[in-house]
Amino acid sequence: MDTDFYTPMRLDEVESPLQDEVEKALGIDIETCMECGKCSGGCSNAHIFDFTPRKVVQLIRLGAEETLLTMDALWVCLSCQLCVDRCPSGIDIPRIMDYLREKALREGYRPSRPAVVLFYELMCSCVERRGRVSEAPLMLRFNVLTGQYLKDLTLGIRMFLKGKLPLTAGKVKKMDEVRTLFVSWHRRSVKRG
Ligand code: SF4
Ligand code: SF4
Repeated sequence: MDTDFYTPMRLDEVESPLQDEVEKALGIDIETCMECGKCSGGCSNAHIFDFTPRKVVQLIRLGAEETLLTMDALWVCLSCQLCVDRCPSGIDIPRIMDYLREKALREGYRPSRPAVVLFYELMCSCVERRGRVSEAPLMLRFNVLTGQYLKDLTLGIRMFLKGKLPLTAGKVKKMDEVRTLFVSWHRRSVKRG
């Protein structure tokens, strides 16, 4: 068998600027990953991920930045924390996913699921205005902007009639504190243009 094309690779010898960046930003030691796969085994959405959580960690070690910033898994991770609970090294994969999502948006990568980004931005703007989410206007705006005009209408009316879906949510008292949380979010949006 011709094995000339095959050069074994040692992960600990690969230089990964992305790994250094993630470790520095989040204080997570990626090198403690044992590749046991418990994170992938417990992940609630691994069946629809293009790269499982274990592979995400390995891709960081390989410095595969472009692959990570364009993968679909970024936009279907639920931040449910199941992978963290199972990881023997306590590697916080949802935080890594959050970091990669922010980085992908900041650097102008087109998300594979724009509706997820739209929902996130509508929810954030709702919180910025009132300090909490107003579910009915949020659902309405999202459905209109994604062209799903009648989606959830019957359910929404039933919930409204039972008093489970108020049309507005009151403002929280310390709105100035809430607004300070959004300063960096706006900086990121301005950069994205
Ligand atoms: S936080 Fe994301 S990666 Fe972790 S188990 Fe949940 S869906 Fe999977
Ligand atoms: S559970 Fe933790 S140690 Fe195991 S593969 Fe996943 S990230 Fe690595």
